[in-house]
Amino acid sequence: MKKILVTGGAGYIGSHTVRELLDNGYEVVVYDNLESGHKEAVAKAKLIEGELADSGKLQAALEGIDAVVHFAAYIYVDESVAEPAKYYRNNFSNGLVLLEAMRQAGVKKIVFSSTAAVYGEPTEIPVKESSPTQPINPYGHSKLMFEQALDWCCRAYEMHGISLRYFNASGAHKSGELGDAHLVQAHLGTAAIKAALGELSELKIFGTDWDTADGTCTRDYIHVSDLARAHILALEKIEEGEPHRVYNLGTGKGVSVKEVLAATKKVSGADFKVTETGRRAGDPQALIANVDKARRELGFETTESDIEHIIETALRWHQRHPKGFSGGSS
Ligand code: UDP
Repeated sequence: MKKILVTGGAGYIGSHTVRELLDNGYEVVVYDNLESGHKEAVAKAKLIEGELADSGKLQAALEGIDAVVHFAAYIYVDESVAEPAKYYRNNFSNGLVLLEAMRQAGVKKIVFSSTAAVYGEPTEIPVKESSPTQPINPYGHSKLMFEQALDWCCRAYEMHGISLRYFNASGAHKSGELGDAHLVQAHLGTAAIKAALGELSELKIFGTDWDTADGTCTRDYIHVSDLARAHILALEKIEEGEPHRVYNLGTGKGVSVKEVLAATKKVSGADFKVTETGRRAGDPQALIANVDKARRELGFETTESDIEHIIETALRWHQRHPKGFSGGSS
């Protein structure tokens, strides 16, 4: 049986990946400082509470591990603009601590949780892995820096790495047991569900004058369980091909803000107030993945990313956990 260390495994995408790994017969050790992760999200795995910066603890945790899946990171774009050093320290420097600890421990395989934010304002839609990477905030930049460092480390130290660039992660585990517990900074899906549940008095659409079919921005929403499964495919194929490879993970299809709201109203049966406001600073008009490479090389297909299924599972999670895990607020 393969033994996998998952950093940040108690977070949103991490916990879904841990569940998928366990369901596929992997042994899992979660390494998480629980700053924003939740113990309840990984109740079925072994949990080591530790900091990424603690190389001694990491090295001990890496004992007997076959591969690492690295999620632990800060994720807020706005905060990264206000406090860039915090993002470079955690997402980049602490990532290097992990790579160095892996080297010391002789662990040579790592799947890295990256993001479409490495592309910045896309120059072509759909976005290919070979499209220019020009991040427009420290969050995206810190993730790109780690990808690039990983690339060189894989060549120099005979390691194998895969960086997975997620588009809009959304939805929740179909059991209703796991979901996005970030209640503070709501993305569109969460905001729409809160509006449907009456927790938000209205939903604001940021811009209806975009050059799209209905005038609202389009995004590539991918179900978190589809993302989770991609990590297993990546682990299975990590030794094939170049030492470090990057893959987009999305559906290849754009869904507009208005389509998300219509799906939320349909699935929830609730009508809520929608107001049309101006554009939000920094929003690209469209962000859609070209996923040919992941399909071809990893055998990746989405099965849960239909927008109504995404909303349905997220709604179930919010109904069952109105305050997230144990009433936590992160
Ligand atoms: N959006 C919106 N109202 C909201 C939240 C988001 O109109 O209350 C729009 C936002 O402008 C963007 C899309 O929904 O076009 C997706 O935003 P989100 O923050 O979920 O993801 P992003 O792609 O910005 O990371």
